[in-house]
Amino acid sequence: MLSPPFDLAQARILVSNDDGIVAPGLAVLADAARSLSADVWVVAPEQEQSGAGHSLTLQRPLRIRQVADRHYAVDGTPTDCVLLAVHEILKDHKPTLILSGVNYGGNMGEDVTYSGTVAAAMEGTLLGIPSIAFSLAVVHGETPLWQTPRGLIPDLIRNLAAHQWPTGCLMNVNIPNREPAAITGVRAAAQGMRKLGDNLVKSVDPRGKTYYWIGPVRDEDATKPGTDLNAVTEGAVAVTPISLDLTHVAGLSALAGYLP
Ligand code: MN
Repeated sequence: MLSPPFDLAQARILVSNDDGIVAPGLAVLADAARSLSADVWVVAPEQEQSGAGHSLTLQRPLRIRQVADRHYAVDGTPTDCVLLAVHEILKDHKPTLILSGVNYGGNMGEDVTYSGTVAAAMEGTLLGIPSIAFSLAVVHGETPLWQTPRGLIPDLIRNLAAHQWPTGCLMNVNIPNREPAAITGVRAAAQGMRKLGDNLVKSVDPRGKTYYWIGPVRDEDATKPGTDLNAVTEGAVAVTPISLDLTHVAGLSALAGYLP
């Protein structure tokens, strides 16, 4: 696996997301990448893919549409985008760094398992390319303050690209939706946990059939110190190293103690 440290000015940077090719957060991240390197490529989904997780499209063909110079849309998931970018569009000169986002909404706690934003960074990591996911922790109904990630991201990338990372690790960055002056710092944070309780909306459609809509409201436990949820609640940027090895280490040794 390629690993930082590397010279960002020489880096080929791939930018993707899960909010889709026209999302404002994608332009924010591509601009941030262009402030660091002249070799920036965008490959993002045609349609919003929030909640797609790490899914691959296997049941139908995929199309690549060139939008502009170094700018492509794929009619699939974030994972499809990274795969096609690395193995087709950029196959002769692979990216040094993959950035995903900036997502509209935080990807903290168990969100990481649903998130297409984080999944793009997972796919990059599986392909051996250092990858960072960025999310703006907009709370339902708030106006997204894109100037905050726009200002913070170049220095965050410079810092992360200057230090070695563990193998099989991606970086998940959550930025509070506050004015830049109200950001209280940058913290290394663990993945938090939330209480369950998705807001399921049940109603009846115009033809009399019942439908369900999975809503965004959850009862978040932001009180546990050291977590992403806690850092963002206190106004700090949370940087969480995420391992692709999902083994529960304590569970493994307990299991080994009683299996025949
Ligand atoms: Mn999204």
